[in-house]
Amino acid sequence: MRRPLVAGNWKMHGTRASVAELIRGLRHLALPSSVEVAVMPPCLYINQVIQGLDGKSIAVGAQNCAVEPMQGALTGEVAPSQLADAGCALVLVGHSERRLILGERDELLSRKFAAAQSCGLIPVLCIGETLEQRQAGKTLEVVAGQLGSVIEELGVGAFAQAVVAYEPVWAIGTGLTASPQEAQEVHAAIRAQLAAESADVARGVRILYGGSVKAANAAELFGMPDIDGGLIGGASLNADEFGAICRAA
Ligand code: PEP
Repeated sequence: MRRPLVAGNWKMHGTRASVAELIRGLRHLALPSSVEVAVMPPCLYINQVIQGLDGKSIAVGAQNCAVEPMQGALTGEVAPSQLADAGCALVLVGHSERRLILGERDELLSRKFAAAQSCGLIPVLCIGETLEQRQAGKTLEVVAGQLGSVIEELGVGAFAQAVVAYEPVWAIGTGLTASPQEAQEVHAAIRAQLAAESADVARGVRILYGGSVKAANAAELFGMPDIDGGLIGGASLNADEFGAICRAA
């Protein structure tokens, strides 16, 4: 059985004071041990969160990493080895905001994925279609292309130590959510694509849903057979709401 994962992506939100407040809220949560829980603060606050959550079983991850695994001359970036040194366990790769606003492409993302793994981090590969692509009936093609490019570069075995997050771009931060059936269709296609290369990897890999998940819709989404938890943006900034989502997984 796959252990569900619920990860909170705090995006570019927070101040030292608001992060301290959120840590206080997270520390008070009653979280089920059957669910793995993680938070991904802005890089600047990772140390504060790791120290503040000491003793609480909530993993900490980053929202991005450099393409080079080790420290060196790459101004403004943070190496996966530095994230691991700080105590991070996982890192987002290819969030749609980075693909669309910063122009990160599949080839670069495969390199980030590999760099993260080489430092012992679990990459969470984010894939998903825009509204235009969905309306053109291209959802499965787009998602298969984004996933396929990493499989092609690194081999399906790379997904034995990785997580996939299906995040329809039109549902991120918009209040629109894919219906459980719409999400399940894509999750099943992602698992089938992996299964075509390795049944074992496909059975074990966790595929998260992301896109306006809230306490009110989480249970229905997480109840689908190929949805193994969620990547939560806005709702993860409220500890009580985030806790309720974790308990729904
Ligand atoms: C995200 O940023 O990954 C996300 C899913 O955001 P939201 O939950 O706010 O739609």
